[in-house]
Amino acid sequence: MHPTSSDPAPCIVVLGSLNMDLLLRVPHAPAAGETLHGHSIDHLPGGKGGNQAVGCARQGARVRMLGCVGDDAHGRALRDALAQDGIDTAGVQTDAQAPTGVALVMVDDSAQNRIVVIPGANAGVQVEDAALAQQLHGAAFLLVQFETPLAQVARALEVAARVGCRVLLNPSPVAAMPAAFWSQVDTLVVNEVEAQALGGLPVHGPAEAAVAARALGARGPERVVVTLGAQGAVAVDGQGCRHHPAPGVEAVDTTAAGDTFLGAFAVALARGTPFEAAVQLGIRAAALCVARPGAQPSIPRRAEVLRSPL
Ligand code: ADP
Repeated sequence: MHPTSSDPAPCIVVLGSLNMDLLLRVPHAPAAGETLHGHSIDHLPGGKGGNQAVGCARQGARVRMLGCVGDDAHGRALRDALAQDGIDTAGVQTDAQAPTGVALVMVDDSAQNRIVVIPGANAGVQVEDAALAQQLHGAAFLLVQFETPLAQVARALEVAARVGCRVLLNPSPVAAMPAAFWSQVDTLVVNEVEAQALGGLPVHGPAEAAVAARALGARGPERVVVTLGAQGAVAVDGQGCRHHPAPGVEAVDTTAAGDTFLGAFAVALARGTPFEAAVQLGIRAAALCVARPGAQPSIPRRAEVLRSPL
């Protein structure tokens, strides 16, 4: 029995990256050797870990963040931003030797994004077994991505297994999955690119996503979700496989769409919402996110998702 079934404010521990996003709006992506005048620049808190933590917090979860920033203005701004969303930052470490992670996000006039990440201090995060075990106490999920060094992810998964905390893994950006992870992950969420890389089969659209999701689930995770951008998501669990379409919205900026899905989906599951309904909530939250600019600023709150007509 997990401590969170039907808990209105479940606790989720997020281990992941914290980046300052430098959002450049440009008419088109510059070609090699081309100098381009862009439209604007904004500094916005981001990183998959930070985004997913904010996504969970805005859905009403109590969130404990584990990550690492540099001893600089970006790092302080990121801590403050997390705290403003009510996230517990006691587990956010400071690496005095490295700059805070930065992501250069270029969004063109057709809403396509191109992203360069400099991990900086994210590479120095240290999972300490006793501290993590304490943080996981009473938590519904440990939520992890692959912007944290895999050795630290592996350590966190071992601690979660030891204390009996479920793991929701979003292996993004995709990397070869250490064999032990498959049996330690309860719920796996991947996009088409990640599904294809992990499964070794082409994934374009719902039919191929269903094949990939079943294959990935057969390796261990109880539930697998393959997100499909504007086509929604395919979800597989012991009960079967279903495609959930996304509502039609005008996409302004798809940055953090996956992170918004993850946050809303994770909190719904942690609250005891049935799997299919949790996927649908994630899709509705992500649709609201893509209709406006930026990463964390575009992540909707629970009330907004619930009253959305989408
Ligand atoms: P990622 O951002 O991780 O690559 P996806 O592109 O699959 O992941 O998007 C995650 C989720 O965001 C999708 O499952 C979908 O619910 C939503 N989404 C993404 N793009 C759109 C879009 N153009 N219209 C509506 N929903 C979208």
